[in-house]
Amino acid sequence: MPEIKKPLFIESEQCRSLKNCRACRFDQTFRDKIKQEFEVPNHFDSFCPVLVPKKLVFTETAHCLARIHCKACRQNDQFRQSIRDTFEVPENFDSICPITGTIDPPVIIASPSPSPAKNCCGDKSVKPVPATASPQNFPSLHQEVLNLASAVARAAVSLVTTGKVIAPEEVRKTRIAICEQCDQLKVNRCLKCGCYTAAKVALATEKCPYEPPKWVEAPVTKP
Ligand code: SF4
Repeated sequence: MPEIKKPLFIESEQCRSLKNCRACRFDQTFRDKIKQEFEVPNHFDSFCPVLVPKKLVFTETAHCLARIHCKACRQNDQFRQSIRDTFEVPENFDSICPITGTIDPPVIIASPSPSPAKNCCGDKSVKPVPATASPQNFPSLHQEVLNLASAVARAAVSLVTTGKVIAPEEVRKTRIAICEQCDQLKVNRCLKCGCYTAAKVALATEKCPYEPPKWVEAPVTKP
């Protein structure tokens, strides 16, 4: 029997009209239904396929430019694979650091045995992934990449649907005050999600990953 191909979701009316954007990005039941009925791009779980039709370029992300994961990027095969799955990387990514031009081939170190990682920020589109040991009990590096990708996608959706992405100043101040009192804050980063809190509190679409959350998304409405 010939295989019946599913239609492409990004060519469907319900995708192009953006009318189910919030459900599409935040409602797991809705997302599962889409995957059953349509063909979706590989990066559907990380990026909105309409607003971010291509994967982001890894060398243009704050993570790469800040070089905070340089060692993992060059030496940890599990982390490298998560980067390849999530972002566009240069062809010579396996042999040359795209930022420094270092020509060392990556030294592959054994990954620790997998253990369940928690979803970040209540985003059910981020699936649990095998954890890699991370200093100071931050989430696994793989999970941090997914968290960053999800935050970018949420912000992009908000920008298009409401024209707003930055939380009002009083909301930011309140959030910062809560984070500063929180035992999960470590050197300007949240131990729960690994995010830099200065950036996290500024985005209206973010919420505290603590259960229950200590602060939630800021309401944004169309002007
Ligand atoms: S985001 Fe939440 S868990 Fe993280 S430091 Fe702030 S208050 Fe604490």
